[in-house]
Amino acid sequence: MKLRAAVALAATTLAVLVGTLLAARADDGDDEKRTVTLIHCGKLLALPGQAPLDGRTVVVADGRIVKIVVGFAAAGDVPEADGARVEIIDQKERFVLPGLIDCHTHLTGEYDRHVRLRRVEETDADAAVKATVYARRTLLAGFTTVRNVGSGGDAAFAVRDAIKKGLVPGPRMLVAGESISPTGGHSDSTLGYREDLFDIPGAMQGIGDGVAGCRQAVRAQVKRGADVIKLTATGGVLSTTAAGTDQQFFEDELEAIVQTSRLLGRKVAAHAHGTVGIKAALRAGVDSIEHGTFLDDEAVALFRERGAFLVPTLLAGKEVTDWAEIEGFLPPPVADKARRVGPQLQSAFARAVRGGVRIAFGTDCGVSPHGINAREFALMVEGGMTPAAAIAAATTDAAELIGLSSEVGSIVPGKAADLIAVDGDPLADVTALESVRFVMREGRVFKRGD
Ligand SMILES: [Zn+2]
Repeated sequence: MKLRAAVALAATTLAVLVGTLLAARADDGDDEKRTVTLIHCGKLLALPGQAPLDGRTVVVADGRIVKIVVGFAAAGDVPEADGARVEIIDQKERFVLPGLIDCHTHLTGEYDRHVRLRRVEETDADAAVKATVYARRTLLAGFTTVRNVGSGGDAAFAVRDAIKKGLVPGPRMLVAGESISPTGGHSDSTLGYREDLFDIPGAMQGIGDGVAGCRQAVRAQVKRGADVIKLTATGGVLSTTAAGTDQQFFEDELEAIVQTSRLLGRKVAAHAHGTVGIKAALRAGVDSIEHGTFLDDEAVALFRERGAFLVPTLLAGKEVTDWAEIEGFLPPPVADKARRVGPQLQSAFARAVRGGVRIAFGTDCGVSPHGINAREFALMVEGGMTPAAAIAAATTDAAELIGLSSEVGSIVPGKAADLIAVDGDPLADVTALESVRFVMREGRVFKRGD
């Protein structure tokens, strides 16, 4: 090494060392140096639904998107970087898009053949610890926001708050708490158990009968901290009861749930399989139908008239169809429902797409393992959506459904810096989203993939 080069290296090393020490000191002081991050994007899908842009730099500061610059900007090209610590993230070989949104998860558990035993063994604390693992998996799969529609006790709220505080890695969570269900309905968590095992579930457990009971159940979830209300309008597959998958709430009960939610500023997601139950929920004014298995043309018209979304959960349909064929995996009444509902989900989805129903991405992960959420995209494309529309369903459209359009869903100045990157072009092959290489949520990098 030449002397001048060695001196320069020593000077650089010293500068870095001093810089590190100063930064460490600044961390303890008030005048912490601001970081400005420049993300060099080979392709940038800033606004899903529109064409991707070539060679852009996304400028991020304080967890927010500051602006998008043409070309690969250096620190000196960005006035906002003056006096700031500048970090450059190279995604020049990758396709960058907004962080994905899953509108239907259950992060506090994962279904398997022991799920009914765990119900009497595990505490909320056990569920919360597991949920931190599943939340991290979900985030690293590229999902920077999830709507958690149904969980027992306090676990999901605790995890949501811990993620918000930066204590554990995970997606931004909107949490429903317990699904609202009538006594013996799909989300009555005591179904199929000996009566002396649990207290009779009430409003805090999401149980509501009659108008007053339904109002109380909604208020109880909001009291607990619910961001959104989930109700089970019809029977469901995985509850241990031979009660089918038809309507379970009366019209006045559905209206009471929706009206109380509106009063308290919450949106409403309705689990519904049976045709009559889907329509009753839509008429009551819910924001989304989850699953929508037996929707017909009249339901399609109602969706469009009301501007409601379908959250298809095709991945769950596929999973339960497979389970029904494994001897002894599902209790008999559950296996029977799985055989009828599973295969039907995909054709209901195709009918909804053909009919112009708005679709918001949702997987029901927790039924299938957490972290494989992006496999839903291929099923959506199989069902007739273009990759571009499927990506919009998981970004801009999902953001609209969950009421976070001003915050997430596209890469525009002012929004939270939620960005992911993949190799390849997901607009040509949507399965590229199954291998997310880079994940940033609110300006923090959780996966770098290099
Ligand atoms: Zn679900």
